[in-house]
Formats: sequence, structure tokens, C-alpha cells
Amino acid sequence: MIDPFGRAISYLRVSVTDRCDFRCHYCMTEEMAFLPKSDVLSLEELDRVCSAFVHKGVRKLRITGGEPLVRRNIISLFQALSRHLKSGGLDELTLTTNGSQLARFALQLVDCGVERINVSIDTLDPDKFRLITRRGDLAQVLEGLTAAKKAGLAVKINTVALRNFNEDEFEHLIQWCGDQGYDLTFIETMPMGDIGGDRVDQYLPLSEVRLRLEQSLTLTDSTHRTGGPARYVTVAETGGRVGFITPLTHNFCESCNRVRLTCTGTLFMCLGQDDAADLRQPLRASDSDMPLIAAIDAAIARKPKGHDFIIERARGGAALARHMSVTGG
Ligand code: SAM
Ligand code: SF4
Repeated sequence: MIDPFGRAISYLRVSVTDRCDFRCHYCMTEEMAFLPKSDVLSLEELDRVCSAFVHKGVRKLRITGGEPLVRRNIISLFQALSRHLKSGGLDELTLTTNGSQLARFALQLVDCGVERINVSIDTLDPDKFRLITRRGDLAQVLEGLTAAKKAGLAVKINTVALRNFNEDEFEHLIQWCGDQGYDLTFIETMPMGDIGGDRVDQYLPLSEVRLRLEQSLTLTDSTHRTGGPARYVTVAETGGRVGFITPLTHNFCESCNRVRLTCTGTLFMCLGQDDAADLRQPLRASDSDMPLIAAIDAAIARKPKGHDFIIERARGGAALARHMSVTGG
């Protein structure tokens, strides 16, 4: 699949549910209205769409959400998709999770061929953790991480940089990840969805974070890439790697290789644009995959050149109406 700007699309992110057991302040409101179940693709339908993408040339699948591990019987989707790893059709099957259910699922994920996972942790202070997630238990997530490590999963921690919340913890997080053998990526808040507050106050540019970190740590630019938008540095003091995802201070669209599927079968060709293609209709219209594949081809043919996220006060800080939990991070 080659888009109009010559980019090969080889990476699909799939949000398997919009539901979550947390309510992170920057991601959701306390009272989120979730989708009716009838709108949501069954696990068999998700497998069919993912498999169509694999046949079209997708080499990497990331399962995300909402919280993917709260979807009932989610392991059966991983089991089904693992056949593409075995056949060589897929290079990587992976997951982004808040970690709350990892203790239960780590071994089963490894059995399905998952080798690396991303776990989101914004703070290592249990009280602040409960505050930012509105209900999360840090100890439970740390237990999940221990299980992941024991099961042999490589872990990358995702931390959203939030002004006046966790900016005093970054060195500690870097040290902790270094000690645990986890990679760490900092993410800027993206203006997605109404969160019942003003994002402008939360936004902390990572350019500023990096300059501050350089006062106490020795950071060296690294050529390491994971096929995503993160740019990495190595930290001399810990020997670890730290990534920065900077959609707002630095655009990364020219190398974009991905598209995103929601749990209702809507395909977003860009995280930062509203244009989308409905794949549920062609999927449900026929037992043959031909209409689905035609719809995928038509969608890729109009993948936009890039996004233009701007945090503006005028729009209350939400440049896009949909929440991150719809398209997945
Ligand atoms: N529930 C899982 C988790 O938290 O990892 C997977 C879905 S979550 C939407 C994926 C990632 O998006 C998380 O790392 C989260 O911190 C991040 N995220 C959510 N809303 C965001 C926003 N408005 N700006 C930047 N990152 C956001
Ligand atoms: Fe849930 Fe992940 Fe959003 Fe937090 S960031 S509310 S864990 S989907």
C-alpha cells in the first residue's frame, strides 16, 4: 500500500474498545459516553479486518484502546492474529496498555508471540497516579510490570509530560526505567477530545523538557528508531534510552507509515485529521473480502500529507472532537 506521497503503509494500530478502567484526565472525562456495543466490531470482525491489512502489506500490528485488556476474551484476538506471525505475514504483534490487567495476561500474550509492549505510567507516586487516572492503582500496574518482565516481555514506558503535574519526576522516571531495563518515551499532550478542562495549562513542550534534563543528565542523540515518530537519546548516567514524541513542537508526518482503525471499523488515515473511511459497512455487506479491500485501497489513496495540531485557547484546547481512546495512542 503506497499513499499519494509515496509512503508505504506497513503499520496498523487497532483500537479494540473505547472503554477503559481508568479515566486519565488528559484522555477522558469522568463521565465518558461509551459506544453502544452493537456499533463495535466483534473480535472475529476485527480479525478479518486486521488480516485483510496483513494481506495488503501491513507488517506491524499494535492493539490499543481504550484499554485493550479490559475487552472480554481479548486473548482470542491475539491468538487468532498470531497465525500471521507464524506464517511470516507479520513481523510484529504488539500492545499499548495501562498495565492494570497485565499480571493476568502477560504469559498468554507471550504465548501469542507478543515480544514488546508499551505501558503508560505518568507518575511513580501512588497518590498522584490515582489522581491523574481518577481510579488507577499504581501497585497493581507495577505488579503487572513485574509479571511482564518475568514472562520475558520487553517494556517501554509511555509518559505524558504534564505541566504542574509530573515535571518534577522526569529524572526519577529516567532513573527508574534505567534500573528496571525499560525504555521510556515522553509524549506531549495532543489536543484531542473534550476533557472538561483547558489543555493549555497542561501542555509542556518536550523541547523545554529536554533542555531541563540536560542540566543534570548527559543526553546523546541516538539513531535508534522503532518505526514510529519517537526520536531517541541515550542517557550516559543510566545507559538507558529515552524517546521524545513531539507532535506539537516538531512535525513527524513525512515518515508516517501508519493508519488507525477504531473499534467500530472506522479507518483514520491520520491521527490529526478528521477524514475517515468506514470499513464496517463493506465488511458486513459481504462474506467476501473484496469490498473491504476496495474500501481500504480507496482510503489509502487519500491519506493526507500531515496534521496541523495547534493548542489554541480559542478552541478550548481541543483541535479534534474525538478522544484519543477512540483512535488509540
Ligand atoms: N489505555 C492504554 C494506555 O493508556 O496505554 C492504551 C490507549 S491510550 C489512549 C494510549 C496512549 O495515549 C497512552 O500512553 C496515553 O497516555 C496517551 N494519550 C491519551 N490521551 C492523550 C492526549 N490527549 N495526548 C497525548 N497522549 C495521550
Ligand atoms: Fe484509559 Fe489509556 Fe485513556 Fe488512560 S490514557 S483513560 S488508561 S485509554
